[in-house]
Amino acid sequence: MKSNASYFAGLDIGGTTVKAVLVDAQAEQAGALVEVRSLVKDGYEATFRQLELALEQLAAGAGIERGAIAGIGLDVPAPSSDGVIWGRANLADDWVGTDIRGLLSARLGLPVFMTNDGNAAAVGEYAMRKEHTSSLMLLAPGTGLGGGLVLPGGRCYEGVNGLALEVGHVSVPFREDDGSLPPCSCGLTGCSEAWVSLMALRRRLALELAKPQWAAHPLNQTDAPIADKAFRLRDFAQHGDELAVSIFRQQGFILGYLIADLVRVFDPGLVVIGGGLAETSFRDLFMTWIEEGFADRAWSVYRFSPLDSSQATTRFEWAIGGDAAAAIGMAYAARELFQ
Ligand SMILES: [Zn+2]
Repeated sequence: MKSNASYFAGLDIGGTTVKAVLVDAQAEQAGALVEVRSLVKDGYEATFRQLELALEQLAAGAGIERGAIAGIGLDVPAPSSDGVIWGRANLADDWVGTDIRGLLSARLGLPVFMTNDGNAAAVGEYAMRKEHTSSLMLLAPGTGLGGGLVLPGGRCYEGVNGLALEVGHVSVPFREDDGSLPPCSCGLTGCSEAWVSLMALRRRLALELAKPQWAAHPLNQTDAPIADKAFRLRDFAQHGDELAVSIFRQQGFILGYLIADLVRVFDPGLVVIGGGLAETSFRDLFMTWIEEGFADRAWSVYRFSPLDSSQATTRFEWAIGGDAAAAIGMAYAARELFQ
Protein backbone atom coordinates (compact mmCIF):
# COMPACT_ATOMS: atom_id res chain seq x y z
CA MET A 1 0.00 0.00 0.00
CA LYS A 2 2.88 2.34 0.74
CA SER A 3 4.21 4.29 -2.20
CA ASN A 4 5.58 7.70 -3.04
CA ALA A 5 2.04 8.93 -2.54
CA SER A 6 2.43 9.83 1.07
CA TYR A 7 0.33 12.93 1.62
CA PHE A 8 -3.21 13.09 2.93
CA ALA A 9 -5.78 15.83 2.39
CA GLY A 10 -8.54 16.98 4.72
CA LEU A 11 -11.45 18.73 3.01
CA ASP A 12 -14.04 20.55 5.11
CA ILE A 13 -17.18 21.56 3.21
CA GLY A 14 -18.85 24.49 4.94
CA GLY A 15 -21.74 26.68 3.91
CA THR A 16 -19.56 29.49 2.56
CA THR A 17 -16.05 28.06 2.13
CA VAL A 18 -14.27 24.79 1.58
CA LYS A 19 -11.20 24.57 3.82
CA ALA A 20 -8.40 22.18 2.96
CA VAL A 21 -5.31 20.96 4.79
CA LEU A 22 -2.50 18.62 3.69
CA VAL A 23 -0.42 16.45 6.03
CA ASP A 24 2.57 14.25 5.29
CA ALA A 25 3.26 10.69 6.42
CA GLN A 26 4.42 11.97 9.82
CA ALA A 27 1.14 13.89 10.30
CA GLU A 28 2.94 17.22 9.94
CA GLN A 29 1.06 19.88 8.02
CA ALA A 30 2.48 20.50 4.54
CA GLY A 31 1.88 23.96 3.10
CA ALA A 32 -0.76 26.35 4.33
CA LEU A 33 -4.50 26.06 4.84
CA VAL A 34 -6.33 26.52 1.52
CA GLU A 35 -9.76 28.10 1.23
CA VAL A 36 -11.98 28.11 -1.84
CA ARG A 37 -15.61 29.14 -2.26
CA SER A 38 -18.22 26.61 -1.25
CA LEU A 39 -20.85 25.89 -3.88
CA VAL A 40 -22.91 23.46 -1.79
CA LYS A 41 -26.15 25.14 -2.77
CA ASP A 42 -25.32 24.52 -6.47
CA GLY A 43 -25.18 20.76 -5.97
CA TYR A 44 -22.49 18.17 -5.43
CA GLU A 45 -21.03 18.29 -8.97
CA ALA A 46 -20.22 21.99 -8.58
CA THR A 47 -18.77 21.23 -5.14
CA PHE A 48 -16.60 18.38 -6.45
CA ARG A 49 -15.01 20.86 -8.91
CA GLN A 50 -14.24 23.14 -5.95
CA LEU A 51 -12.72 20.20 -4.05
CA GLU A 52 -10.46 19.46 -7.03
CA LEU A 53 -9.46 23.11 -7.14
CA ALA A 54 -8.60 22.95 -3.43
CA LEU A 55 -6.50 19.81 -4.01
CA GLU A 56 -4.58 21.54 -6.83
CA GLN A 57 -3.88 24.49 -4.55
CA LEU A 58 -2.82 22.22 -1.68
CA ALA A 59 -0.37 20.38 -3.92
CA ALA A 60 1.02 23.62 -5.35
CA GLY A 61 1.37 25.13 -1.88
CA ALA A 62 3.30 22.11 -0.60
CA GLY A 63 5.41 21.82 -3.76
CA ILE A 64 4.25 18.29 -4.59
CA GLU A 65 2.46 16.57 -7.50
CA ARG A 66 -1.22 16.03 -6.93
CA GLY A 67 -0.52 12.34 -7.53
CA ALA A 68 1.41 12.31 -4.24
CA ILE A 69 -1.89 12.62 -2.35
CA ALA A 70 -2.84 9.11 -1.23
CA GLY A 71 -6.15 9.61 0.55
CA ILE A 72 -8.88 12.06 1.40
CA GLY A 73 -10.82 12.84 4.56
CA LEU A 74 -14.02 14.73 3.81
CA ASP A 75 -16.54 16.27 6.16
CA VAL A 76 -19.98 17.56 5.29
CA PRO A 77 -22.32 19.94 7.17
CA ALA A 78 -25.13 17.40 7.45
CA PRO A 79 -25.85 14.03 9.03
CA SER A 80 -24.61 11.16 6.89
CA SER A 81 -24.39 7.40 7.10
CA ASP A 82 -21.79 5.34 5.27
CA GLY A 83 -20.96 8.11 2.79
CA VAL A 84 -24.59 9.02 2.06
CA ILE A 85 -26.15 12.25 3.31
CA TRP A 86 -29.73 11.92 4.49
CA GLY A 87 -30.38 15.28 6.17
CA ARG A 88 -30.60 18.26 3.84
CA ALA A 89 -29.49 21.12 6.13
CA ASN A 90 -28.28 23.94 3.83
CA LEU A 91 -27.38 21.71 0.92
CA ALA A 92 -28.97 21.51 -2.53
CA ASP A 93 -31.46 18.65 -2.94
CA ASP A 94 -29.18 16.47 -5.07
CA TRP A 95 -26.86 15.77 -2.13
CA VAL A 96 -29.49 13.78 -0.26
CA GLY A 97 -29.52 10.03 -0.79
CA THR A 98 -26.48 10.16 -3.11
CA ASP A 99 -23.36 8.07 -2.52
CA ILE A 100 -21.15 11.14 -2.15
CA ARG A 101 -18.18 9.23 -0.81
CA GLY A 102 -18.32 6.64 -3.61
CA LEU A 103 -18.69 9.22 -6.37
CA LEU A 104 -15.85 11.39 -5.09
CA SER A 105 -13.60 8.39 -4.57
CA ALA A 106 -14.22 7.22 -8.18
CA ARG A 107 -13.69 10.71 -9.55
CA LEU A 108 -10.38 11.25 -7.77
CA GLY A 109 -9.20 7.64 -7.90
CA LEU A 110 -8.48 7.84 -4.17
CA PRO A 111 -9.89 6.33 -0.99
CA VAL A 112 -12.22 8.76 0.79
CA PHE A 113 -13.32 8.81 4.42
CA MET A 114 -16.43 10.88 5.07
CA THR A 115 -18.13 12.06 8.24
CA ASN A 116 -19.99 15.08 9.62
CA ASP A 117 -18.39 18.37 10.67
CA GLY A 118 -18.77 17.79 14.44
CA ASN A 119 -16.86 14.51 14.28
CA ALA A 120 -14.23 16.09 12.04
CA ALA A 121 -13.63 19.01 14.41
CA ALA A 122 -13.33 16.62 17.37
CA VAL A 123 -10.61 14.65 15.55
CA GLY A 124 -8.89 17.93 14.69
CA GLU A 125 -8.84 19.04 18.32
CA TYR A 126 -7.42 15.65 19.29
CA ALA A 127 -4.78 15.75 16.55
CA MET A 128 -3.63 19.24 17.59
CA ARG A 129 -3.10 18.14 21.22
CA LYS A 130 -0.14 15.87 20.60
CA GLU A 131 0.37 15.29 24.33
CA HIS A 132 -3.25 14.25 24.87
CA THR A 133 -3.89 10.49 24.67
CA SER A 134 -7.15 9.76 26.50
CA SER A 135 -10.61 10.23 25.00
CA LEU A 136 -11.84 13.68 23.96
CA MET A 137 -15.41 14.91 23.64
CA LEU A 138 -16.19 18.05 21.67
CA LEU A 139 -19.32 20.18 21.98
CA ALA A 140 -19.64 23.00 19.48
CA PRO A 141 -22.51 25.45 19.81
CA GLY A 142 -22.91 27.19 16.45
CA THR A 143 -25.96 27.46 14.21
CA GLY A 144 -26.90 24.16 15.84
CA LEU A 145 -25.17 22.18 18.58
CA GLY A 146 -22.68 19.67 17.19
CA GLY A 147 -20.53 17.14 18.95
CA GLY A 148 -17.96 14.43 18.51
CA LEU A 149 -16.10 11.79 20.50
CA VAL A 150 -12.54 10.66 19.84
CA LEU A 151 -11.39 7.46 21.50
CA PRO A 152 -7.90 6.90 22.97
CA GLY A 153 -5.56 6.50 19.99
CA GLY A 154 -7.36 9.05 17.85
CA ARG A 155 -10.19 7.11 16.21
CA CYS A 156 -13.52 8.91 16.00
CA TYR A 157 -16.49 7.04 17.43
CA GLU A 158 -19.15 7.38 14.72
CA GLY A 159 -21.70 4.76 15.69
CA VAL A 160 -23.09 2.07 13.39
CA ASN A 161 -25.06 4.61 11.32
CA GLY A 162 -22.53 7.42 11.60
CA LEU A 163 -25.00 9.16 13.88
CA ALA A 164 -23.35 8.95 17.29
CA LEU A 165 -22.86 12.13 19.32
CA GLU A 166 -25.88 13.93 17.86
CA VAL A 167 -25.72 15.78 21.16
CA GLY A 168 -27.88 18.67 19.97
CA HIS A 169 -30.89 16.37 19.91
CA VAL A 170 -30.54 14.92 23.37
CA SER A 171 -33.44 16.17 25.49
CA VAL A 172 -32.82 18.39 28.51
CA PRO A 173 -35.32 19.02 31.35
CA PHE A 174 -35.84 22.73 30.83
CA ARG A 175 -39.08 24.50 29.96
CA GLU A 176 -40.23 27.90 28.79
CA ASP A 177 -41.94 30.28 31.24
CA ASP A 178 -45.34 28.95 30.11
CA GLY A 179 -44.28 25.34 30.71
CA SER A 180 -43.88 24.42 27.03
CA LEU A 181 -40.91 22.71 25.41
CA PRO A 182 -39.13 24.72 22.70
CA PRO A 183 -39.30 23.43 19.12
CA CYS A 184 -36.15 22.05 17.50
CA SER A 185 -35.03 22.15 13.86
CA CYS A 186 -35.22 18.33 13.83
CA GLY A 187 -38.98 18.34 14.41
CA LEU A 188 -38.84 17.27 18.05
CA THR A 189 -39.24 19.52 21.08
CA GLY A 190 -37.03 20.01 24.12
CA CYS A 191 -33.73 19.18 22.40
CA SER A 192 -30.57 20.74 23.86
CA GLU A 193 -30.04 22.53 20.53
CA ALA A 194 -33.32 24.36 21.07
CA TRP A 195 -31.61 25.94 24.11
CA VAL A 196 -27.94 26.12 23.14
CA SER A 197 -27.32 27.35 19.57
CA LEU A 198 -27.55 30.44 17.42
CA MET A 199 -31.10 29.43 16.49
CA ALA A 200 -31.96 29.24 20.20
CA LEU A 201 -30.30 32.59 20.80
CA ARG A 202 -32.55 34.24 18.22
CA ARG A 203 -35.70 32.69 19.65
CA ARG A 204 -34.77 33.53 23.24
CA LEU A 205 -33.85 37.10 22.33
CA ALA A 206 -37.19 37.66 20.55
CA LEU A 207 -39.08 36.32 23.58
CA GLU A 208 -37.10 38.50 26.00
CA LEU A 209 -37.35 41.69 23.94
CA ALA A 210 -41.15 41.35 24.02
CA LYS A 211 -41.11 41.61 27.83
CA PRO A 212 -41.87 45.04 29.40
CA GLN A 213 -38.66 44.98 31.45
CA TRP A 214 -36.57 45.27 28.26
CA ALA A 215 -38.73 47.92 26.55
CA ALA A 216 -35.93 50.49 26.84
CA HIS A 217 -33.17 48.11 25.73
CA PRO A 218 -31.16 49.46 22.76
CA LEU A 219 -32.08 46.36 20.71
CA ASN A 220 -35.74 47.37 21.08
CA GLN A 221 -35.00 50.78 19.51
CA THR A 222 -34.32 49.35 16.05
CA ASP A 223 -36.37 47.57 13.38
CA ALA A 224 -33.46 45.30 12.40
CA PRO A 225 -34.34 41.62 11.84
CA ILE A 226 -33.93 39.37 14.86
CA ALA A 227 -30.99 37.60 13.18
CA ASP A 228 -29.09 40.93 13.10
CA LYS A 229 -29.99 41.69 16.70
CA ALA A 230 -28.82 38.22 17.80
CA PHE A 231 -25.57 38.78 15.89
CA ARG A 232 -24.93 41.92 17.98
CA LEU A 233 -25.70 40.14 21.26
CA ARG A 234 -22.10 38.97 21.72
CA ASP A 235 -20.89 42.57 21.67
CA PHE A 236 -23.49 43.47 24.27
CA ALA A 237 -22.44 40.52 26.44
CA GLN A 238 -18.78 41.52 26.13
CA HIS A 239 -19.74 44.91 27.55
CA GLY A 240 -21.72 43.40 30.43
CA ASP A 241 -25.22 44.17 29.14
CA GLU A 242 -27.70 42.58 31.58
CA LEU A 243 -30.04 41.08 28.97
CA ALA A 244 -27.23 39.63 26.83
CA VAL A 245 -25.46 38.21 29.89
CA SER A 246 -28.66 36.55 31.16
CA ILE A 247 -29.25 34.86 27.80
CA PHE A 248 -25.69 33.58 27.42
CA ARG A 249 -25.64 32.53 31.07
CA GLN A 250 -28.70 30.35 30.49
CA GLN A 251 -27.07 28.83 27.39
CA GLY A 252 -23.86 28.10 29.29
CA PHE A 253 -25.70 26.59 32.25
CA ILE A 254 -27.80 24.26 30.07
CA LEU A 255 -24.72 23.25 28.07
CA GLY A 256 -22.95 22.35 31.32
CA TYR A 257 -25.98 20.40 32.48
CA LEU A 258 -26.01 18.43 29.23
CA ILE A 259 -22.26 17.79 29.47
CA ALA A 260 -22.76 16.29 32.95
CA ASP A 261 -25.06 13.64 31.51
CA LEU A 262 -22.79 13.01 28.52
CA VAL A 263 -19.83 12.62 30.89
CA ARG A 264 -21.94 10.06 32.78
CA VAL A 265 -22.16 8.07 29.53
CA PHE A 266 -18.65 8.48 28.12
CA ASP A 267 -16.42 9.61 31.04
CA PRO A 268 -14.04 11.37 28.62
CA GLY A 269 -10.60 12.61 29.62
CA LEU A 270 -11.15 16.05 28.16
CA VAL A 271 -14.20 18.10 27.19
CA VAL A 272 -13.48 20.67 24.48
CA ILE A 273 -15.88 23.54 23.82
CA GLY A 274 -15.81 24.78 20.23
CA GLY A 275 -17.98 27.04 18.15
CA GLY A 276 -17.83 30.80 17.74
CA LEU A 277 -17.90 31.58 21.47
CA ALA A 278 -14.32 30.30 21.72
CA GLU A 279 -13.27 33.54 20.03
CA THR A 280 -15.14 35.98 22.29
CA SER A 281 -13.67 38.06 25.09
CA PHE A 282 -16.30 36.83 27.57
CA ARG A 283 -15.45 33.18 27.01
CA ASP A 284 -13.91 32.82 30.48
CA LEU A 285 -17.20 33.96 31.95
CA PHE A 286 -19.10 31.61 29.64
CA MET A 287 -16.92 28.73 30.87
CA THR A 288 -17.85 29.52 34.49
CA TRP A 289 -21.54 29.24 33.47
CA ILE A 290 -20.85 25.88 31.81
CA GLU A 291 -19.16 24.72 35.01
CA GLU A 292 -22.14 25.95 37.07
CA GLY A 293 -24.50 23.81 35.02
CA PHE A 294 -22.07 20.88 35.15
CA ALA A 295 -21.72 21.14 38.95
CA ASP A 296 -25.52 21.22 39.28
CA ARG A 297 -25.89 17.83 37.60
CA ALA A 298 -22.62 15.89 37.76
CA TRP A 299 -21.75 13.54 40.60
CA SER A 300 -18.63 14.73 42.35
CA VAL A 301 -16.87 11.52 41.32
CA TYR A 302 -16.93 12.84 37.74
CA ARG A 303 -15.60 16.19 38.83
CA PHE A 304 -12.90 15.20 41.26
CA SER A 305 -10.76 12.14 41.61
CA PRO A 306 -12.00 9.82 44.38
CA LEU A 307 -8.33 9.21 45.20
CA ASP A 308 -7.37 12.88 45.43
CA SER A 309 -10.33 15.18 45.95
CA SER A 310 -8.29 18.24 44.96
CA GLN A 311 -7.71 16.84 41.48
CA ALA A 312 -10.28 17.61 38.78
CA THR A 313 -10.77 14.56 36.58
CA THR A 314 -13.16 16.12 34.07
CA ARG A 315 -11.29 18.95 32.41
CA PHE A 316 -12.77 21.61 30.17
CA GLU A 317 -10.82 23.46 27.51
CA TRP A 318 -11.69 25.82 24.72
CA ALA A 319 -11.13 24.61 21.18
CA ILE A 320 -7.74 25.60 19.73
CA GLY A 321 -8.25 24.73 16.06
CA GLY A 322 -10.68 27.53 15.24
CA ASP A 323 -12.50 27.00 11.98
CA ALA A 324 -9.58 24.96 10.60
CA ALA A 325 -10.14 22.13 13.13
CA ALA A 326 -12.41 20.06 10.88
CA ALA A 327 -10.04 20.16 7.89
CA ILE A 328 -7.08 19.29 10.13
CA GLY A 329 -9.08 16.43 11.65
CA MET A 330 -9.94 15.01 8.25
CA ALA A 331 -6.33 15.12 7.04
CA TYR A 332 -5.31 13.34 10.24
CA ALA A 333 -8.09 10.74 9.83
CA ALA A 334 -7.15 10.07 6.21
CA ARG A 335 -3.54 9.46 7.24
CA GLU A 336 -4.63 7.11 10.04
CA LEU A 337 -6.91 5.13 7.72
CA PHE A 338 -5.09 5.12 4.39
CA GLN A 339 -1.38 5.22 5.15
ZN1 LIG B 1 -33.67 18.23 17.82
